[in-house]
Amino acid sequence: MTFRFANIEGRAALVDYDGRWFDAERVSSGVVSADPMEAWFQLDDLHVAARKIAEARPDGNISVAVLGPPIPSPRSVFAVGLNYQAHADEAKMKVPDVPVVFTKFPSCLAGPTDAVVLGGSADDYEAELVVVIGVGGRGIPREDAWHHVGGLTVGQDISDRALQFAAEPAHFDLGKSRDTYGPIGPVVVSTDSFADPADLLLTCQVNGERRQEDRTSNLIFDVPTLISYLSNILTLTPGDLIFTGTPEGVGAASFRFLADGDVITTTIEGIGTMANRCRQPDQPA
Ligand code: ZN
Repeated sequence: MTFRFANIEGRAALVDYDGRWFDAERVSSGVVSADPMEAWFQLDDLHVAARKIAEARPDGNISVAVLGPPIPSPRSVFAVGLNYQAHADEAKMKVPDVPVVFTKFPSCLAGPTDAVVLGGSADDYEAELVVVIGVGGRGIPREDAWHHVGGLTVGQDISDRALQFAAEPAHFDLGKSRDTYGPIGPVVVSTDSFADPADLLLTCQVNGERRQEDRTSNLIFDVPTLISYLSNILTLTPGDLIFTGTPEGVGAASFRFLADGDVITTTIEGIGTMANRCRQPDQPA
């Protein structure tokens, strides 16, 4: 059974296609943990609980709920650079022979409507498909990789370009890990919900102006390749996130960086939309 998984005020929730949410612990009669991370480790129970929401009374609508990051504290958050040809071209970088992988430290994660607190002088957006590992493993072959994906969500790999390139070689990890620089959500959609999880339209708008648009079928290193590559080096764990890379149109290419008050709207078809407002650190939320 397909599911849409959310974090509503720190509790695991299931969401239907009308945006109504159901507390996962309540709707599963206590089987699924209220804690979103613990609930994610009960993937089979989530699929079963999703069957029950059609008959259940909703707890509310996500349009007026406070959503946290659906996966709030994964063990690892991987990200991939230069994974769309046109983005590699605009960055004037050669497409690498193997995936360029860096870390977003899990402390940077934020919810789908949380503020992005600008930390640098050249802060940038990067709309990305985010893979959520459902079944961990090591040495996963490409042909098995989708079976290890529990779901997909929308992500923003917010990047402080000044910090990123302050060191040589560049330290991607720090430049992309300021607090709030990893919004994800609004929901994690189980992989079995998609006709083709490898071909989804991804768009990003800043203040309503379209800046990025591509399909995930244009990834240079696709999801199975990334999972196989990573899992042959280290053990993937349920809840681990993989930010799969951003298409062309980032602010750095046109020197249009994020400013106070800007609203970043990020959408992936079949998953949903995040809207994150940028603000300076000294301003109230
Ligand atoms: Zn990125």
